[in-house]
Amino acid sequence: MTDPSATALSAAPADARSLLSPFWGEEARVASLVAGRLVDGAGDTVTVADPASGRTLLTYADAGEALVATAAAAADEGRKAWWGLTAAERGRILHRVGALVRERVEDLARMEAVNVGKPLADARAEAIKVAEMFEYYAGWCDKIHGEVIPVPTSHVNQTMKVPYGVVLIITPWNAPLFVAGWNVAPALATGNAVLLKPSENTPLTALALGRLMIEAGVPEVAVGVLTGLGHTTGAAAIRHRAVRKVAFIGSPATGRRIAALCAEGVKPCVLELGGKSANIVFADADLEKAVGGAAGAIFSGAGQSCVAGSRLLVERRIYGEVAERLAALAEKIVVGAPLAAGTQVGPVQNARQHARIETMVAQARRDGARLLAGGARPAGCDDGFFYRPTVLADVTNDLEIAREEVFGPVVGVIPFDGEAEALAIANDSDFGLAGAVWTRDVGRAMRIVSQLEAGTLWVNSYKTISVMTPFGGFKDSGFGRSSGREGLDEYLQTKSIWIETAEKPGFSFGYG
Ligand code: NAD
Repeated sequence: MTDPSATALSAAPADARSLLSPFWGEEARVASLVAGRLVDGAGDTVTVADPASGRTLLTYADAGEALVATAAAAADEGRKAWWGLTAAERGRILHRVGALVRERVEDLARMEAVNVGKPLADARAEAIKVAEMFEYYAGWCDKIHGEVIPVPTSHVNQTMKVPYGVVLIITPWNAPLFVAGWNVAPALATGNAVLLKPSENTPLTALALGRLMIEAGVPEVAVGVLTGLGHTTGAAAIRHRAVRKVAFIGSPATGRRIAALCAEGVKPCVLELGGKSANIVFADADLEKAVGGAAGAIFSGAGQSCVAGSRLLVERRIYGEVAERLAALAEKIVVGAPLAAGTQVGPVQNARQHARIETMVAQARRDGARLLAGGARPAGCDDGFFYRPTVLADVTNDLEIAREEVFGPVVGVIPFDGEAEALAIANDSDFGLAGAVWTRDVGRAMRIVSQLEAGTLWVNSYKTISVMTPFGGFKDSGFGRSSGREGLDEYLQTKSIWIETAEKPGFSFGYG
């Protein structure tokens, strides 16, 4: 492990303005994007720290209710302009968004790396995925249609697939560009106007993406970006009558509040929440691959991933060996500043999250978990929000560390005996977002994945996802699906149309 302190400070980024200027030129600043212009909010000042140094990176004014109303009114016009285009034209525009994202990958990646604390290579890979998302959904635009149903009357009965109108997409801070693309692309492909509310901690890439969408030809009233706090700006946007559907990606606690707000307005929502995913290693697995996979599952992104493999379930007869090998690997991981060459794991995004990780690890140790690696800041590094990859052994599934999402680079290693116990432990969780099994026995792998209660499952692998594949949670991890063909359905409503064809239709007072 490297000492990140030197690089953290030397790589302290330029201010938000210079990060945004490749997209916004002279206008560049953190504000809300309303009808194609950056408009300053009127609310309290939001201050965001640079994760690598702890020093102030951004300050801006919370959008607030009045600006939300202006943006929502613009989007209400935007939905008509966007839906008024032909489906093929919408597809061409979304292709152009993908192309522009590809052209600007380096600028986007740098911005994301600085703001989130993500290693530059990871930020670059995510930006390329965002281009793929727009390209994939561009292809769907002119393939969305209803059907004709052979009803037993003299009618032609046809369905139409239509957009909701204005949809609100609320995103978290761990992968703001990736998650925005993941949801905005299908929402636009289905003809909706979009209001994007990024986390108050990470507004930069949403503003850059907004600019690129407009540059590609999305009508400027059809995309808005609301920069600000959740309980003010986010809540006001949910309540606005122009907003007809909400996609929320964030923590389980906030997800419950969002669902309640949506219920008040009878608005459907998609909830993509957290997880406590089980990564199960059987004794017959290729241990080299399983241990490497377990490290990637939890330490990539400094563990700030909804699908992180934070519970590592290991068959008892290889338990000691796997735990030790994982700890040795954790110690070798290069923790460093996001822009420093060779960094594998950056800081966590914010001070609050860093404090949560420290508190939860301390509690786990009090509860009897044995620290095998990490458990502290890297030596000599008092600035920024760095935390060492951490392995806790002798964890039982009833401990807080096994039940609550840490959202940090911390794995609890839990022993099990046999398939039945592995499944019982894995499914004994409030969450159900993802899971994995490592074994050479194909039958066993199939038995496990068919019984594990989670939305995404990997065999001898971890964390691969694709825009082509539906993604979403079971249980407290949420409901609804993003990505793939199913991701489109979330943004479409069905109309049913009855056309009488009989020359002399019979009169009916029933349903005939
Ligand atoms: P968070 O719930 O604190 O915030 C998410 C968003 O909700 C932010 O934009 C915030 O401003 C907004 N918000 C907060 N209160 C609000 C309110 N009352 N009304 C409207 N909006 C409100 O989440 P976070 O800490 O930013 O992100 C971490 C969480 O996100 C983790 O739990 C993680 O697992 C989850 N996550 C899930 C997925 C997934 O696809 N399942 C993906 C990424 C992150």
